[in-house]
Amino acid sequence: LVEFENNTTGDIWNELLVLARQPGVVNLGQGFPDYDGSKVAREAAAEAMVDPAKSALNQYSLPLGLKALQSAVSTYYNKSYDLKEGAANRAIGPENVLVTIGATEGLYASLKTLSGPGDEVIIFNPGFPWYLTTTRVVGATPVLVELAGPDFAPDMEKLEEAITPKTKVLLINTPHNPCGHCYTKEEMEGFARLALKHNLFVISDEVYENVTFGETRHHRIADEEGMFERTVTLCSASKLFSLTGWRVGWALSTPGLLKGLAVYHGNTSYCAPSPLQHGLAVALGVEDGSFEGIPKLVEGNGELLGSALKEKGFAVTQPQGGHFLVADTTPLGLKGLECAKLLLTHAKVGVVPGVIFYFPDNTGADPDRPLLRFAICKRRDTIEQAVRRIREMD
Ligand code: GLN
Repeated sequence: LVEFENNTTGDIWNELLVLARQPGVVNLGQGFPDYDGSKVAREAAAEAMVDPAKSALNQYSLPLGLKALQSAVSTYYNKSYDLKEGAANRAIGPENVLVTIGATEGLYASLKTLSGPGDEVIIFNPGFPWYLTTTRVVGATPVLVELAGPDFAPDMEKLEEAITPKTKVLLINTPHNPCGHCYTKEEMEGFARLALKHNLFVISDEVYENVTFGETRHHRIADEEGMFERTVTLCSASKLFSLTGWRVGWALSTPGLLKGLAVYHGNTSYCAPSPLQHGLAVALGVEDGSFEGIPKLVEGNGELLGSALKEKGFAVTQPQGGHFLVADTTPLGLKGLECAKLLLTHAKVGVVPGVIFYFPDNTGADPDRPLLRFAICKRRDTIEQAVRRIREMD
C-alpha cells in the first residue's frame, strides 16, 4: 500500500479516496453504495435512451427540470411528509422544484444566490467539507459553530452567539454527515426561532432524508412555521436511489428563490441529464418509502460495525441516520489520521479521518481530531469483511 505520508498534500480528500479504492482494500471511505441502485430508475432511463418512441428524452430538458420529474418530486414529498395546502408544512408544487447536478451543485447555487463577499455563513464543525470550501468559493465568510461529541447535537446558545448583523445564511445538515445526528423537532424549532429572529436564510442539506434508524424520524426545517419562504432544501436522487454517479438532485424552495439558483445552474450546466431525470421520475412514482430495504440494511450495518469497534476500544457514536458511523480514537491513544493509516495498512480497511471534516478554526484547535468516519452504505458482506479484519488486527 502507498504510504499516507506521501499522499497528504494537495487535495487530501481525493488522495485518501484513491488509497481506499486500491485492490484488496475494504473501502469504507467515500459514501457510495456497493449494492445496486434502483432497478426501476435504471431500466426506465435505459429505455429512454434506446426506445425510438422516447428519443426526445435524449435532448435538453428545461433548465428547471424535466416536467415529469418536477411533478413526481412534488407528489412524493407531499405524500411522504403529509404536506398540505395552507398549513405551515406547506404542500409543494412542481414550481418549488429545481433539478440540479447533485446536491453539490444545489449547494453552490444556493450559497451563491443567498450570500457573497461581506456576508457570513454559519456552518457546523465538524461537517461535510464542501460547506467550507463552497462558502469560500462564493466569497462569503464561514463562521464555525462546534458540535461536541458524543452526540454531536447543536448547542443553540453557541449558535446564537455566532450570529452577527453580517450573518446571512445558516447551513444545516440532517441526517448529519459525518456524525449521524438527526435534528429533533425541538432542534428544528430552535433553528426556526433563530432564523426568524435574526432574519436568516437556511440552506438545509437533507440528502440522507430516507435513512433514519429505530424511532428516529426525519424533520424538515421548511415545515416549521414561517420557514418555507426562507429555506432552500437540498435533496439527492443519488442518495435516495443509491445512484451516486448519476449526479441528479433537487433544490426545494419558493419560485422566487429558485429563480436565483437557476441563474447559476442555467449558466454552468444548463440542465440535468434528461434520460436520467426520466428514470428518476418513474422510480419516484412507484416508491413506497421502503427503498428496497436499504435503510434497514444500513441500520444493521451500523449496529454490527459499531459493536465490533466498541470491542476494539473505540468510543462509538451510534448514528441516528445517514450513511456513516463515527468512532473516537482517544481511548486507543491515537489521532485520527494515525489510526486511519493503521487501519489501511494493517487491516486493509479504508476510512476517512476526522481531519477531513473538522474545519480549521480561530481557536487554533488541531483539525486532526481523534475521529474516524466509516461509510456503512455497503453490502452486508462488505461490512462483515471489514469487521473480521478489524477484529484480527493487533
Ligand atoms: N457525500 C459523500 C461522502 O461524504 C461523497 C461526497 C463526494 O465525494 N463528493 O462521502
